[in-house]
Amino acid sequence: MGFDIVLIVGHVDEELLCPICADVLEEPVQSVGCEHAFCRQCIDRWMRLKQICPVDRSNLQPENLVNVSRLMRNMLARLKIQCSFTENGCDQLLTLEGFRAHVASCEHNPKLIVECQKGCGIKVPKDKLATHNCIEELRDTVKVLLGDLKELKESQISQQLRIMTQRRELELLQYYISALRSSNPVIHGIGEQLDRYSLMQWGNALPLARVRNWGSLVSTPDIPMHVMVRESLRASGCPMHLFNMMVDRCHEDRWPKGLSTLNARRESQHLYQYVPRLLPPLVIGKPCVVVLGGDNTHMPPDLVPSLGMVLIFVDGVTELQQEAQQEPQLESSYA
Ligand SMILES: [Zn+2]
Ligand SMILES: [Zn+2]
Ligand SMILES: [Zn+2]
Ligand SMILES: [Zn+2]
Repeated sequence: MGFDIVLIVGHVDEELLCPICADVLEEPVQSVGCEHAFCRQCIDRWMRLKQICPVDRSNLQPENLVNVSRLMRNMLARLKIQCSFTENGCDQLLTLEGFRAHVASCEHNPKLIVECQKGCGIKVPKDKLATHNCIEELRDTVKVLLGDLKELKESQISQQLRIMTQRRELELLQYYISALRSSNPVIHGIGEQLDRYSLMQWGNALPLARVRNWGSLVSTPDIPMHVMVRESLRASGCPMHLFNMMVDRCHEDRWPKGLSTLNARRESQHLYQYVPRLLPPLVIGKPCVVVLGGDNTHMPPDLVPSLGMVLIFVDGVTELQQEAQQEPQLESSYA
């Protein structure tokens, strides 16, 4: 590298010049044997090709290079150098040590990056400022950003595909576990926990609901209503391997004992302290909720099935306002 000798003010001793670049030594080092001095970068580059002194061709190894003498360092420190942009109007005189930092930020450097003050705020080289057109620059910026956006969208699509594949694999695993469950009591227990967990994962995305009129419960839905419950569960993302089970559980035949007959319901009505979650409304406009085991561990077992059930109403169900929602309680074993 070296400092441009043309910029140095006054006379420079020849021994302060680098024999490789012929400029003033920058970060000087010297050979222990022959004491020839070079810029650090110049000699490093040279020694990648040849391991000899470029002046006298004596043997030279990297470990033979040391700092130059204090005398030489003092002589270099006394030199004054002009800024590279003297012709552009800079009149600073600098030490060699401060030269590089000054040049990099010199306000007379035509390539200095500055911010446009006409409103676009884009950073441009100073010499381009006069011909800079905010609208054109912004248009280019928008073009780049649109390109970035397109890339982002593409990567989002591929991520979604991956998630879908993983979800499918998880479903297969869940089917597999449910097949094993019938033969192994330990796996049966694990499977049931996993099912409750899957249902809560789904349920946590559903809004909490308030039932105002338990009397409007539809306990024996007909086949068209069954079909609509299917649609509603599907639209809300009910876990596939539990889908049919949940569809079935919209009828009093499949509810727990305390709900299974009109009389039982009348007797346990004062116990209705469910935490229900709202499903998308049925096509005929009737409100529909799910009561999940994981949400309702506070309820007596004869009122809540361990996994969950679907309840259809004629009317009287509202969504709990966001601020009134409590975090659903997961059992500690799922946490
Ligand atoms: Zn040099
Ligand atoms: Zn030498
Ligand atoms: Zn300057
Ligand atoms: Zn501008």
